[in-house]
Amino acid sequence: MGRSVLVTGGNRGIGLAIAQELAEAGHRVAVTHRGSGAPEGLFGVKADVTDAEQLDTAFKQIEEHQGPVEVLVSNAGINDDTLLMRMSEEQFTRVLDTNLTGAYRVAKRASRGMLRARWGRFVFISSVIGLSGGAGQVNYAASKAGLVGLARSLTRELGSRNITANVVAPGFIVTDMTNELTEEQRAAALKQIPAGRYGDPADVAHVVRFLASDEAAYVNGAVLPVDGGLGMGH
Ligand code: NDP
Repeated sequence: MGRSVLVTGGNRGIGLAIAQELAEAGHRVAVTHRGSGAPEGLFGVKADVTDAEQLDTAFKQIEEHQGPVEVLVSNAGINDDTLLMRMSEEQFTRVLDTNLTGAYRVAKRASRGMLRARWGRFVFISSVIGLSGGAGQVNYAASKAGLVGLARSLTRELGSRNITANVVAPGFIVTDMTNELTEEQRAAALKQIPAGRYGDPADVAHVVRFLASDEAAYVNGAVLPVDGGLGMGH
């Protein structure tokens, strides 16, 4: 009958592709949104990952609707790129608060139910940039690298209870986030990708579907690149 799943930022982009794929696989899938409403066929909860109270309310709604979260996909994320010399402290902390502290908030809230059930799956959506770094992305890269330490610590804390915590590190995926780049930036990125194409949100969703499954029980604390070879060597 499937699992109870929450995908943060599942209202669009990579998160939406993940949510749809998990729903197609037979899971009960909830997504957070910040006012857009839920995409068709998915259970929407209004919550900002920077607000622990809103998240608590959202988790209660999900528990009522489809049971405690068994699979958490922490996907909500933002970027705010600029060179370090020009990056304000607010720009740094805002990106960290969403991408890293946001992941901590949802993971902490979801862990209660997983511990009770003695089964759980955490999947954190990081980025190739978290491992390679990126000029103008000190805030974003730090937040995405932080997810690796977070997931691996969770693996050590909860690994003996049938709970896994893994990181997916996408490369260049076509979404609103990458559509903001200039044509030159896109072309330069393409040259670096051995696969010779940009990624599709579905490329990421297929990997998350596996990590959420029973078959992935012995994959824990891993960082899985989904980048067409862009980041090879990590
Ligand atoms: P989009 O910009 O298309 O979507 C971002 C999603 O995150 C939206 O659903 C957005 O919700 C949500 N979100 C942002 N801030 C918050 C917040 N404070 N609270 C709740 N939800 C929030 O991005 P992508 O789909 O491209 O990216 C998804 C994830 O994948 C991100 O973590 C990103 O860093 C990562 N990633 C993306 C890559 C790419 O090439 N696209 C590559 C590597 C990693 P709303 O609609 O309300 O704004």
